Amino acid sequence: MATLSFEDARQCVFERIRAAIGDIPSQDVSLVDVHGRVLGEDIRADRDYPPLARSVRDGFAVRSQDLPGELTLIGEVAAGDVSAVAVGSGQAIEIMTGAPLPDGADAVLMVEHAVREGTAIRTERAVRAGEFVNFQGSEAKAGDVLTPRGVRAGFAEVALLASVGRTHIRVYNRPRVAILATGNEIVEVKEPVLPQQIRNSNAHSLAAQVQRAGGVPSILPVAKDQLEMTAKLIGEGLDYDLLLISGGVSAGKYDVVEQALARHSAEFYFDRVRIQPGQPLVFGRARGTFFFGLPGNPASTMVTFEVFARAALDLLGGQTESLLPLTLARLTRGFTHKPGLTRFLPAHLSGRTAEITPIPWQGSSDVPALSRANAFLVADAEQESWKAGDLIQVLLK
Ligand code: AMP
Ligand code: MG
Repeated sequence: MATLSFEDARQCVFERIRAAIGDIPSQDVSLVDVHGRVLGEDIRADRDYPPLARSVRDGFAVRSQDLPGELTLIGEVAAGDVSAVAVGSGQAIEIMTGAPLPDGADAVLMVEHAVREGTAIRTERAVRAGEFVNFQGSEAKAGDVLTPRGVRAGFAEVALLASVGRTHIRVYNRPRVAILATGNEIVEVKEPVLPQQIRNSNAHSLAAQVQRAGGVPSILPVAKDQLEMTAKLIGEGLDYDLLLISGGVSAGKYDVVEQALARHSAEFYFDRVRIQPGQPLVFGRARGTFFFGLPGNPASTMVTFEVFARAALDLLGGQTESLLPLTLARLTRGFTHKPGLTRFLPAHLSGRTAEITPIPWQGSSDVPALSRANAFLVADAEQESWKAGDLIQVLLK
């Protein structure tokens, strides 16, 4: 089966899902519920924006050819009003930010740039035609698509929807995601735990990650490392829009997940990625449902979700694009690793100029270290060492 580089594996996820995706069910939600949802329709301008020429400063509506010089004030226009009179030669109208530009005027002279005496204003400055004016339709024309479907609504999209008068908006349904933890040593959080046992933290971190990514998580019972039981629970998980399995995908004697998936005639697209943590990562499809077999170490589960499963969830949820929250930061100290694998290591990002410091850890089972991190340092598979002060890629947590 296929071992892929980090980039090729991501590419594979995008291609497989884009090729398979059909019509995604959608529903209408009200404006107050739209934040964080993926838009299921194009959002169009209901009128020109702005609907008429508007001042962007407090000052005086003028004819640019009249300045510099002295002008006579003939009136005032505030935001929400319309001037009943037009600006003629040698005249000006006092105007407030947001107010419509009176007829005859083609620019705004800032109040700070004029000296006022009674009904006269004077300035030494020339103004450009169009200065401090947003003309009708300069932001958008009536009927323009302002945000296409497939975008997740953030606060700016919410403002846009409110601006164009939408009280209800069509959004794609949230994908339903089954989470199946496996392992004889795994016990449910509420149960007593023996020293050789481990509480099921992965199901809960995954549920949190799914929720953050706009999906609806359902945690299935833990599967023992036993083929029949694992295959049965995988069968339940395949009824969802996406199945996330944690553990059981390494080369150990009791790693039965791939065998159990094969019982459901699964297609496997890759089962190893040159990343750390998370090398034995499985991606495929069975009964029409995509699945990921995520390695069970908590760091592996978290990282592989963020860099692979989240992209799948975004696309299944109707998003057209899915980007990793990557940035560059300067290392506070030198860093080396063995090339060949792309590494994601817990790190702390700080300071105004974005400095990154790797966090000491005991490997991918070290949940306390992961909780101290606010980012992952991303070590390129091709590069061996970085000096203090070098820029390195960072995945935001
Ligand atoms: P596996 O990928 O099944 O070989 O699991 C690797 C290691 O990850 C196990 O030895 C456990 O220490 C840990 N692990 C597996 N599943 C979970 C889980 N659901 N929650 C927390 N840790 C887990
Ligand atoms: Mg296991």
